[in-house]
Amino acid sequence: MLNLLWLLLPLAAASGWYLARREYRQNAVADQKISPSEYVKGLNFLLNEQSDKAIDVFVKMLETDEEVIEMHLAVGSLFRQRGEVERAIRIHQNLVARPGLSEGVRGQALLELARDYLRAGLLDRTEDLCLEIIDSNDDNLSALHILKDIYEQEKEWFRAIEVGRKIQAVTPEFKGGVIAQYFCELAVDAKDQKDLAQARRMLEKAFAEDPFCGRAAILLGDIEKESENYAAAIAAYRRLEESAPQYLSEIYASILECYEAMHWQKRIVPYLKGLLDRHHGIELVLVLSRVLKEQKGVEAALDFLSGDLAGKPSLRGISCLFELESQQTRRKRKFSTLAQQSLDRLLENKPTYRCANCGFTGVVMHWNCPSCKQWGTINAIQEFQWGASI
Ligand SMILES: [Zn+2]
Repeated sequence: MLNLLWLLLPLAAASGWYLARREYRQNAVADQKISPSEYVKGLNFLLNEQSDKAIDVFVKMLETDEEVIEMHLAVGSLFRQRGEVERAIRIHQNLVARPGLSEGVRGQALLELARDYLRAGLLDRTEDLCLEIIDSNDDNLSALHILKDIYEQEKEWFRAIEVGRKIQAVTPEFKGGVIAQYFCELAVDAKDQKDLAQARRMLEKAFAEDPFCGRAAILLGDIEKESENYAAAIAAYRRLEESAPQYLSEIYASILECYEAMHWQKRIVPYLKGLLDRHHGIELVLVLSRVLKEQKGVEAALDFLSGDLAGKPSLRGISCLFELESQQTRRKRKFSTLAQQSLDRLLENKPTYRCANCGFTGVVMHWNCPSCKQWGTINAIQEFQWGASI
């Protein structure tokens, strides 16, 4: 019973509205087939958890009085919110089947029914209904967004693009970035099928939608690298410096691979140092330390790292410092190893990525947030963003 109490509030409001409205219409309408008592009867059934009987009463009212339609829409959506989807569907199907509804009301009922189907997991029916709604009203944003979500779920990227463009036509704030992500998904599909020409075409379209699409730059770099076009790959990766530096940490390993394939080992350190001046980040500091150690030895790596940490402290940097130092001085190994292990344990469970939209955190990069389903909102976390817990 308790979980029905919250239902009272909107229903009480609806009944108040209904009774007031009938009173107002008392003189205007001579033929009143529905009495408020029938409404109360339906309400009682509902409160006594006899939902099916309640629906029968409401549906009967519907046959005689079009003005309670809004209330039916509200009751139907309440059923859906409570998880009683079949009942919601019954109410909304009855509404839709009723002849003589105005186009607006019918569209509203169809949309509610589409939401019921979606909740029930009946994606095909949801899609059909939304297409029917859009057919008569192609700027119905709610139906367009439901369709977009379905196509994303089903990975129907061309259809998602089509719907995305319709949404864009209605709301300019729906940026091309999302459509660019759909083209990136198509590029990934083509790449998986070894159709690199198609993958490149899709990436061109992604850039046309959003010249700042970091994911497209990374994918293009990956394709060129796999095709052994290392100079082109480096150029593609370096696009990120201007367009989307927040994703730079995703490409350090790949860009080093390309430099090595080009036999440009001597250019790596100057390049990374220049990059560090423009886009400082602990990930890059660690990469540069590793390269310095490989190319010039532990001493050079320690000099660089300790100098950088003095200006910009970092737990991961300190951990790396201990590791380097332990390789250098045997006498300090016991403590530096212990300190390093403690630090590593502290760092172990720290998330590496966070969604700027919903705060979702994780250790793997996602282009589509698993929590809020927004595109391109997840970035690598800088250590200072972890907060005061460490
Ligand atoms: Zn999110």
